[in-house]
Amino acid sequence: MKIICIGRNYTNHIEELQNERPTEPVVFMKPDSAVLLKQHPFVLPEFSNDVHHEIELIVKISKVGKYIEPKFAHKYYDEISVGIDFTARDLQDKLKAKGLPWEKAKAFDGSAVIGEFLPKSEFTSLENLTFELTKNSQTVQKGNSNLMLWKIDELIAYVSQFFTLKIGDIIFTGTPEGVAAVQPDDVLEGFLEGKQLFRIQVK
Ligand code: ZN
Repeated sequence: MKIICIGRNYTNHIEELQNERPTEPVVFMKPDSAVLLKQHPFVLPEFSNDVHHEIELIVKISKVGKYIEPKFAHKYYDEISVGIDFTARDLQDKLKAKGLPWEKAKAFDGSAVIGEFLPKSEFTSLENLTFELTKNSQTVQKGNSNLMLWKIDELIAYVSQFFTLKIGDIIFTGTPEGVAAVQPDDVLEGFLEGKQLFRIQVK
């Protein structure tokens, strides 16, 4: 299983990091070893002093596909959730400055939090989904899928030009604004349409 992540998919997040607005989706990957195991705390890595939370809508692929057309993309996933794309921002900034790949800052062990999946049929519209991250019970990030620059179906079509999508692959669809550092003992909870789908502790 692989994890395909989209960067810079929300205007307000692009602005908060003073990034350029992309003309095509920004794509990177995490290996399966990045998945934070269920019931495990997130252990801050030693190589960073500035690990940020990024809550994102996530999609689980349910059918093998390549060169998927946007109008058929909805047939390739049945379940959605929220997750965290943990990012070692200090390291990412260094890599970005040198034009180097981001993997060390984005794909390290435990950097992919995956919430409990829900059938997409539970939702009336995937283009108007609210999601939220709380830190120690305070809301720190709030997003809505209607603010995505590229919608889920467009992202699936786009990434499938490069990578064959397989059953169980997960797509992280980008984070809204409000990213910030986490500290030991923080408790992070992710919600989709008000439903809690993960709760993790930082160590
Ligand atoms: Zn992200």
